[in-house]
This record gives sequence, structure tokens and C-alpha cells, in this order.
Amino acid sequence: MKNRLHQLAAAALMTVASMGAQAAFDITVNYSGDSAYQSYFDNAASFWEGLITGYQGSVSLTGVTIDASIEAIDGQWGTLGYAGPNGTSVQGGFRYTTTGIMVFDSADMAYMTGSGTFADVIRHEMAHVLGFGTLWTYNGVYVDGSGQYTGAAALAEYQTEYNQPGATYIPVELGGGGGTADGHWNEVDNGAGTTGITDGNGNDMRNELMTGWLNAPTYVSRTTIAQFQDIGYTVNLSPVPEPETMMMFALGLPVLLRFARRQNKPQA
Ligand SMILES: [Zn+2]
Repeated sequence: MKNRLHQLAAAALMTVASMGAQAAFDITVNYSGDSAYQSYFDNAASFWEGLITGYQGSVSLTGVTIDASIEAIDGQWGTLGYAGPNGTSVQGGFRYTTTGIMVFDSADMAYMTGSGTFADVIRHEMAHVLGFGTLWTYNGVYVDGSGQYTGAAALAEYQTEYNQPGATYIPVELGGGGGTADGHWNEVDNGAGTTGITDGNGNDMRNELMTGWLNAPTYVSRTTIAQFQDIGYTVNLSPVPEPETMMMFALGLPVLLRFARRQNKPQA
């Protein structure tokens, strides 16, 4: 009996501890749609919660709430989805997302899930909700049209991760039109070739998750993680996520996706 009580007490303590840890930065997804896709949203939330640990300074925020849905947008191909913040709060010198939306085109779901790209697409779009490319100008790390990201933490990572010691900025995408330009790391437009900028493992910038076109297999760079530090979060730079392996794309099936980064209306 005594042992059992000890076990219950230990279980209660563990629950309290984990609740405390989760309070630092929670991503809550209110998903309405086919339950078959629920796990993709849960997994993406866990992914970013593992890399973004909280907020710098003292803020009253504990996370982000995202309304996610799968709706008819523009038929097959074209816009696969759009996402972004739709509520923000300025605290401690940064503008943070408080609420956001993610909408995916029902006509493209069969392709995205069947091809294995949907997990990447959701992670990519969720990053936009959290501020990647959408809150850069508000937080002083980018000037629209400049093509030059200047946030200190990400730039420092870029210099070492991609062996660009003399870089004074990270190149930002200017092609692809509205929704793609000014909101992603730069790559050859339409994903049409490698950039020649590679990390120590030989991963080209082309395959990084947060470029304007999705090229599998993807990986998330330390540069992208540090970018979240530049816009006010605390981050976990270690362990570095490993590249995902999706052999069917490594074999050369072209995957050219465009992501709209602004809320409220889909963009071509
Ligand atoms: Zn995007």
C-alpha cells in the first residue's frame, strides 16, 4: 500500500513537472476537417515546440493558437494552402503571433498525403504562422524588397553552418511573386537546381524547409531555428534535426510548391 502511494505521488509530480515545461511555449491547433489528417497537425506542433522553448524577456504569452482547416481553394495544383498570423501582440520589444490560421486545399490533399509531402508542407506553413517571413519586418530583421535578412542570431549560424564567414546577410527570395518573395530563404526560382550553398553535411540550401519551393528530402537548418531567436523566442539549437529521408523524391520526382504566407486570401 505504501509503495503504491509513493508511485501515485511520483506520477503526480511528473505530471506537474511536464505541465510546467509545456507552459513555456504551446502550439494549440484547432483543426476542423477530416480526422485522418489530425496527426499531421499534432506532429508539426510537437516539432516546433521541440525547437522553440519560450519567449525572451518577460511576456504574458504562453503560446500560439492556430485555426486549421482543409477547404476548396483553387482546384488541383496552384495554391496548395496558405497560412500566417492573424493576431499579434507587441511585448518586450518584439511582435509575436498570438493566433494564426492554416488552410489547405482539399483538391490537393490526395497528392500531398500520397506523395509524403504533407508533413513538410504543414511544418513549413506553421513556421510562417510563428513568424518566419511574416513578422520579419515588424521585428527589424528584414526590409521588404532588399533580399537581405540581417537578424544577428540566424546570420551567425548561417556564416558557420553554410561556411559563409564573410556574409553580412542571409539571401532572401525575391522571385516567385507575392506570397513567396520576401518570406523565404533564397533558392533558384522554382527549385530549378541547387544553390551551391551547402552545410557541413552536404545539404544544399535548395532542400531547406523554409525556401520558397519544397524540394524533398527536406531538412531544417540551425539558421532557420536561430531565426526564431531573432524574432523574440528562445530556441533549442541542439540537437540539430536530421534531414528526413523520402526516397521517392530523392529519385527525382519534381515537387514545386508555392506557399502563400499572408493570411485571409489565397495567392496564386
Ligand atoms: Zn512559405
